[in-house]
Amino acid sequence: MKPNVFVFSRLSDEHLAELSERYQVTVLDPKGDIDAQYAAALPSAQGMIGVGRKLGPAQLAQAGQLKVVSSISVGYDNYDLPYLTERGIMLTNTPDVLTETTADLGFTLLMSAARRVPELDAWTKAGHWQRTVSPERFGVDIHHKTLGIVGMGRIGAAIARRGHFGFNMPVLYTANSPKPELEAELNARFCGLDELLQQADFVVLVVPLGPQTRHLIGERQLAQMKASAILVNVARGAVVDENALIAALEKGTIRGAGLDVYEREPLSDSPLFSLPNAVTLPHIGSATAQTRDAMARLALDNFHQAMAGQRPANLVNDEIGS
Ligand code: NAP
Repeated sequence: MKPNVFVFSRLSDEHLAELSERYQVTVLDPKGDIDAQYAAALPSAQGMIGVGRKLGPAQLAQAGQLKVVSSISVGYDNYDLPYLTERGIMLTNTPDVLTETTADLGFTLLMSAARRVPELDAWTKAGHWQRTVSPERFGVDIHHKTLGIVGMGRIGAAIARRGHFGFNMPVLYTANSPKPELEAELNARFCGLDELLQQADFVVLVVPLGPQTRHLIGERQLAQMKASAILVNVARGAVVDENALIAALEKGTIRGAGLDVYEREPLSDSPLFSLPNAVTLPHIGSATAQTRDAMARLALDNFHQAMAGQRPANLVNDEIGS
């Protein structure tokens, strides 16, 4: 008998057909009763593939057969990792294939906030362009300004490369440990978060969300930023205390923000929406057709490996099986 697999995100017909050759596949219908579908599928599921659902003891207590959760994402803050590990459930993710695309989006947000692109697009289309644009609608320079990367990992380094090679930006960064090779490549400087916040013209957040990074940027940190600085968040919403950010944007203690992620998602209403100095995108860091396809491909490869009893290439809880 084929093992049961529960697919809880959209996959292409091609990927679903590939899964169906090897497994008995149940696909979540997002228009149906979500909880009822999980309750029906999980007791017999040996594997799960998807993204965007919190999975921990409350959700997985009935999933007694579960061997692997293949996440179609690089971030895995939605999953209770200690719990999965204790249960011997493998968790896999999709690093690398989304790095450049997410870095593109991070830099897009930086530029959009600096040059006020969405705000001035709406202003132009509203017919306000009657004469030469006056200084109150001017933006700020990007080139030669200091770029602060909070979390110099794969995506952080890709954003830093865009800043260094494309825009002649000096780069400051934080990470758990210094990155000498990147320092040599990008002339980047490792420093503490406080110094980065005080000196950077653009602060870009690309750390994973976890206990150490939840509300890493709050009222105290925002107060340290330059009044002319822009905060970009392509990490996870809860890395920032959103209420403190809204207050800082309202008071103008920082100039602006470019946001892809929020404490609560999807975000259908927020004070951010009435702030012209906040550029708000709907969590689309990796959302190009090509990259989403590559992520699904990698998630399937990880999944097949795990189900075949091999060590998956992108095993997050790598203490399992060692
Ligand atoms: P990564 O390669 O693991 O990089 C994470 C970096 O953060 C590492 O350099 C790490 O430092 C650093 N870091 C971890 N904890 C830190 C802390 N407390 N203070 C300072 N630095 C810290 O991950 P990635 O592939 O670049 O992805 C980063 C995150 O981006 C993901 O976890 C995900 O949440 C988010 N993301 C969002 C989207 C989107 O759609 N918006 C798309 C993709 C990813 P060390 O290297 O020294 O350990």
